[in-house]
Amino acid sequence: MVNKECFGTLFLDVEMKIGILGFQGAIIEHQRHIEKLGHEAVNVRYPEQLEELNGIILPGGESTTMGKLLVRTGMMEPLRQKIENGLPVWGTCAGMILLAKELENDSVKHLAVMDICVRRNAYGTQIDSFDTVVKISAVAQQAIPLVFIRAPYVTKVGENVEVLCRIDGHIVAARQANMLVTSFHPELTDDSAFHCYFIGMCGK
Ligand code: GLN
Repeated sequence: MVNKECFGTLFLDVEMKIGILGFQGAIIEHQRHIEKLGHEAVNVRYPEQLEELNGIILPGGESTTMGKLLVRTGMMEPLRQKIENGLPVWGTCAGMILLAKELENDSVKHLAVMDICVRRNAYGTQIDSFDTVVKISAVAQQAIPLVFIRAPYVTKVGENVEVLCRIDGHIVAARQANMLVTSFHPELTDDSAFHCYFIGMCGK
């Protein structure tokens, strides 16, 4: 049953099929949120699976490895084309790095579809991981918990990019049309607000 409690989401009566890029990272955690909201989650590892998705999540992990696996599985080009043709996509952490057109501290770009410049490991190493609670008015009425793990942040945005959240002046959530990026990991918390927001994007 589709859960209708999402704030600001108009299309929840229709069950969405949401892909989660299934190479590494918090795949099951994203799946848990999607299913809790009454939608179908699919673990995506092959190009053929990109057909018939209403949206796709690129989870956290290690962006260099995920980029190489996208090439090796033949998914890089078809996925880029789908996104350019409007497939809703949400990149969390390493997923944000995969989507960026520019990387400040890496010479290899990956999907390079979103007009953002990203700094990898911007908060330092694993021990500099942290969490906080913030209200993001475009996404939810209540404050939501944000978890940062070796997180990147956005250092520059193009004019079509909407900044959704800044922390200490750094951009940690942004949207450009069908593309959403977050530096942090909503899937590692119990709060489904960001998953609701993304499913809303998939229903449009
Ligand atoms: N530091 C990782 C990278 O650069 C991203 C970390 C994450 O996804 N939690 O790919």
